This record gives sequence, structure tokens and C-alpha cells, in this order.
Amino acid sequence: MSTSYVHDLMAHVRDFHPGETEFHQAVQEVAESVALVIDRHPEYAKAKVLERIIEPQRAILFGVPWVDDSGEVQINRGYRVQQNNAVGPYKGGTRFHPSVNLAVMKFLAFEQTFKNSLTALNMGGGKGGADFDPKGKSDAEIMRFCQSYMTELYRHLGPNVDVPAGDIGVGGREIGYLFGQYKRLSGEFTGTMTGKRLAWGGSKLRPEATGYGLVYFVEQMLEVRGERLDDKVCLVSGAGNVAQFTVEKLLDLGAKPVTMSDSGGFIYDPEGIDSDKLYWIQDLKNVRGGRIAEYADRYPRATFTPVDASLDHNPLWSTPADIALPCATQNEINAADAAHLIEGGVRLVAEGANMPSQADAVEAFHEAGIVFAPGKASNAGGVAVSGLEMAQNSSHSQWSRGEVDAKLHQIMKDIHRTCAERADEYGVPGNYVHGANIGGFIRVGDAMLQQGVV
Ligand code: NDP
Repeated sequence: MSTSYVHDLMAHVRDFHPGETEFHQAVQEVAESVALVIDRHPEYAKAKVLERIIEPQRAILFGVPWVDDSGEVQINRGYRVQQNNAVGPYKGGTRFHPSVNLAVMKFLAFEQTFKNSLTALNMGGGKGGADFDPKGKSDAEIMRFCQSYMTELYRHLGPNVDVPAGDIGVGGREIGYLFGQYKRLSGEFTGTMTGKRLAWGGSKLRPEATGYGLVYFVEQMLEVRGERLDDKVCLVSGAGNVAQFTVEKLLDLGAKPVTMSDSGGFIYDPEGIDSDKLYWIQDLKNVRGGRIAEYADRYPRATFTPVDASLDHNPLWSTPADIALPCATQNEINAADAAHLIEGGVRLVAEGANMPSQADAVEAFHEAGIVFAPGKASNAGGVAVSGLEMAQNSSHSQWSRGEVDAKLHQIMKDIHRTCAERADEYGVPGNYVHGANIGGFIRVGDAMLQQGVV
């Protein structure tokens, strides 16, 4: 039953969603896990639960016209995919990056549905963005773009309808401009976006949440194997929000991060990226808008390796280490990278980014006995604190940093437990991919069965 279920479902998905490779990849992985469930619970197959989760409930696609500083009219394409709201309002980030297209938005919204379900908070799945490149744009251009994007989107949002947040290219500044325009058009001050600044409804620890949550998840993966983070050498990719706070929490817990990267290449610091160096990187990336290559000029014992498109692999992943935490973007680890990670002694991989590992890389990790956590479980800390931000907004309160951190820590432990228990229950112990997919699916699937065909 399982093989034919996945085969038939994927044939339909390829036919109905042609050319959307990232979306196919994300669906295939979940379908293989759900096949284990429907063998025991055919009611999900009978009610076509996964088929209904796969089809976005709504996908909004719109032009975003804006005027640049030289007075020229520019046009980008905006998206919001409202995937599933069985367990709460649509919830998911907003990405501004030239690589954004419908397939990327759909894969992210699909993944988000399972991730949000795993947090056990009341959040459905969604994702949005635009193929706009914020790099090199002036502050005024960013503001005009955000205002135009929101002018179309606001009618589809609301605190109980759809609550966007940030993602690649969308941080506190962009959330401010987006929220400002939403407020102006709707005439209401509501918690319709998360990732807001602290003074106007933001949650403490939201910027840190994805990175901290990732490391809390890794701590759990190690703990059940009788290990700790102390002195573990860690490879981190990316130098944005998730990567920075991953490195910060690794340092807190005694680990030794040795790499970071951006789209220009990666740095390797054999002495470790300590707190002072991280602070320098945060200033470089968040204030000065510089490139990670500058790190090797500032710290001469470190090396910078530029991206080389002629290689079939990224040499960052050939660096010997104990743990790898990809925190940049999707599909950044291919099968060749996975082979290098295995050769280099890495025994644990946990995703900070969304789907950074290609399917054959994940297969190679499992075959080599590497403990592997998919992003929908290990990077759920960000959306979890967004959920806590929604709760604070609706009760007009603000919790202390300690309170939010304690809740985040508990949520990451609970997600870890759900993944481990579901994997055991369905005969795939230690497999966090199946555990996360099954855990996320059952909560949404049960809600859908209970709510009827809507
Ligand atoms: P940022 O924009 O803050 O940082 C992204 C980093 O990744 C930058 O260093 C960027 O380099 C690099 N990067 C982005 N695209 C590419 C690419 N195509 N090739 C190489 N490098 C790239 O984003 P975040 O840190 O917020 O997000 C990183 C990942 O984590 C994404 O997959 C996102 O979906 C995921 N995520 C984020 C959450 C959050 O709370 N922010 C929550 C859960 C998941 P450069 O500056 O050169 O572009």
C-alpha cells in the first residue's frame, strides 16, 4: 500500500503542479512518512487528508509596482500562499529575495504547516514574499516597496486570518514598514504581524528564537545519546538572523563554531568564532551591510573561500567537525557535500534553514548513521516565539526575556519528544524526518477529519 500510495500521489502532484521542483521535493518527503501512518489509519487516505493539505487553500499572486530613487518605475511579483488553517490562522514568514517564485513559496508554506503543527500552538501554515532584492536598496526604496507590497496584501490578512512574519531579506526594519502600511490601510492596531519591534508589540527574544531554538533542539538530540555540546566543533552556514543567534547560543553552551558564510563564500576560523568575533560579524552584517569575506582581513588566522560555481560541492562542508548546522537557504547541501561531511567526521546535522539538505543528502546521512533533524522540527523556535508574540498581543501583555526563553526551551523539548515518540511508534526509531512529518501530520489531519470537508 505504502509504495503505491506515494507513487500515485506524486504522479498527481507532478501533473497538477508542473515544474515546481522544490514543492515536489517537500511533498515527496512528507508523503513517504504519511504512508507509514495510513497503513494503520486508512481513514486519512479515505478523506484525502494529505491531498487536501498539499493543495494550498489560497495562493495570492500580485504585481508590486514601486518607484526607485532615480524616479524609474520598477515592478516585482508578490506572493502569499495560505496553505492550511486547520489548527489556527495562517502563519509564516515573508521572504524578499530574487530567487522567490511560486514553487518556493508553496514548498515553504507546505513545510510551515507541519512545523507550526509541531509547536502545538494554534497556527496554520502560510508563506509569502517577493522576488525583490533588498541588497543595495536605499532605506526609502525599501519603505516604498514594503508599502506597495502591503497595499495589495492587507485585505487578505488579520490577527485571526493570516499573520506574516520575517524571513530571508525581511527583518525588523521591513516588518516596521509592512506593519505601518497595514495599520494605515486597515485602520487598526492589531497583532497582524510578528517580529515587531519591542516598543510596539514585539516579543522579547523573537530575533534570537530560531537560532536559540535550533541549539536547544540539538542539546536534546545529544542528551538522549548521553552527550553534551561542550567543545563540539560546529559548522554553521549563513551569517543572517538564524546563523548569528545559532552561533551565540552555541557559545553559551560551550561549543566551538568555526565557520559562517554568505552568498559570496565562507570563512573558517580554526580558533573558533568567539563572542567578540560574533559581535564584529553582527555589526558587519546588521549595521554596515558588509560581506563575510572581510572577516579574514580582520582576523588573519581565519581563511575566506569564495563561492566557486565550477565545483560540484561547497568546501564549507568539507571542514572536519562534529556537528553541522546549515542556516542559509534551501538545497545548500547536496549528495557530494553530504559525503564530505561524513568523511569529515560530522555525526549530527540539524537544519536551521528550511530544507537546506537535498533529498539524496538526507538519504546519505541516514545510511551513514548520522543523526539528522529536519528544519520543520529543529528551526521551529522562530515561529513558536511568533506564536507567543500573538498570545502577548491578544492579551495586551509583554513577558520577560526569561519567561519567553523558558517557554521556547520547553517547546523545543516537546517537539523533540514528539518526533522521537512518533518515530518509535511507527517503527522508525531515531528517524527525526519521519517523526516530525508524522507528528505534524496527525495533529492537522485529525483537525481536518473533525472539521469535515471544507
Ligand atoms: P537572513 O536574510 O537574515 O540571512 C540569510 C543568510 O543566508 C545570509 O547570510 C545570506 O547571504 C545567505 N543566503 C541567502 N540566500 C542564499 C543563497 N541563495 N546562496 C547562498 N547564501 C544565501 O535570513 P534568515 O537567517 O532569517 O533565514 C535563513 C534560513 O532560515 C532560511 O531558509 C529561512 O527560511 C530559515 N528560517 C528563518 C527563520 C527566522 O526566524 N528568520 C525561521 C525559520 C527558518 P547574503 O547576505 O549574501 O544573501
